[in-house]
Amino acid sequence: SKEKGGNSYNYYHPDMNKRSLHRLNMEINLRKALERGEFRVFYQPIVNLKNGTVFGMESLVRWIHPEWGMISPGEFIPLAEETGLIVPIGNWVLKQACVQNKEWQRQGYAPLVVSVNISAIQFHQLNFVQIVMDALDESGLSPDLLCLEITENIAMNNVPYILDTMQKLKLLGVRISIDDFGTGYSSLSYLKRFRVHTLKIDQSFIRDVTSDEDNAAIVTALIAMSHRLKIKSLAEGVETQDQLEFLISQGCDEIQGYVFSKPMPASEFEYMIKENK
Ligand code: C2E
Ligand code: CA
Ligand code: CA
Ligand code: CA
Repeated sequence: SKEKGGNSYNYYHPDMNKRSLHRLNMEINLRKALERGEFRVFYQPIVNLKNGTVFGMESLVRWIHPEWGMISPGEFIPLAEETGLIVPIGNWVLKQACVQNKEWQRQGYAPLVVSVNISAIQFHQLNFVQIVMDALDESGLSPDLLCLEITENIAMNNVPYILDTMQKLKLLGVRISIDDFGTGYSSLSYLKRFRVHTLKIDQSFIRDVTSDEDNAAIVTALIAMSHRLKIKSLAEGVETQDQLEFLISQGCDEIQGYVFSKPMPASEFEYMIKENK
C-alpha cells in the first residue's frame, strides 16, 4: 500500500491496524478486569495545613494486569469513558473506598474523609444518587466522611439536572469538591449555585508557582476567592518545600502531593496513619 495515498489506503495502513488492534485488545481486557479482580485502589493523603494532620485521602484506581503490569489511570480512564466501562469501574471504586474508610474507622483511627473521583458519565447516570446511597448503606460509612470529586466539565449541559442531583447529594450529607479547578470549561457562577465544600486547585498552576508570577497570582486569587465564598482551598500536585511554604503563606487550607506522599496501597496508607496515631 502507498504511504500517503487516498483515505482508503490510509485506513488500511499497517500502523493504523496496529493501533486499533492495541485499542481493541485493551478494551477486551478492560471488560474482563473487573470480574478478574485486577483493579486496586491507591490512597494519597490530603494534609490539613492549619494543624498538620491528615485530613483524608484521595482514592486513585490502578489496574494491575497479569502480563502488562500496573497501568496508570491516564492510560485506561479515557477508554473506560468512551466505552461506558467507567460506570461499573467507578461504582466499584466508590464502594471499595467507602468500605475501606469504614474499616479504618472501625479500627479506631481518627476520622478521615475519603475522596472519590466521579466521571461526568457516572454523575449523569439517572440512578447516581441511589448508587451513592447504596455505597454508604452497604459500607456503613458516615456520609460526611465521603467526598465526591467532580470536574467543572460536569456542568456543561443540563444544568437543572445537575442542580437537582447536587441538592440531593447535599441532603444526603456527602461532601463535594471541584477537581482540576481552573482547567475546565465553566462559569464561576456555578461555584455559587452548586455550593461545593472544596476547590481543588489544579497542579498545572502549582508546578511553577514559585517561579511564574502569573501562576502565583492565579493561585493567590483562587485561595482568596474560595475563602470569601467559604469554600476550602486544596492545592494538588505539591512537590517541593518552596511550593508548600508559598501555599502556607497564602492561607491555603489543604494540600496533596509528593512533598508529603505519593498514592499508596491501603496497607501502606494504614501503616502511615498508625505511625501518626
Ligand atoms: P486527578 O483526579 O487530578 O488525580 C491527581 C493525579 O495527580 C493522580 O494521578 C496523582 O497520582 C497525581 N499526583 C499526586 N500528587 C502529585 C504530585 O505531587 N506531582 C505530580 N506530578 N502528580 C501528582 P493518577 O493516579 O495517575 O490519576 C490520573 C487521573 O486519572 C486522575 O487525576 C483522575 O482524573 C483519573 N482517575 C484516577 N482514579 C480514578 C477513578 O477511580 N475514577 C475516575 N473517574 N477517574 C480516576
Ligand atoms: Ca481527583
Ligand atoms: Ca485533580
Ligand atoms: Ca487531573
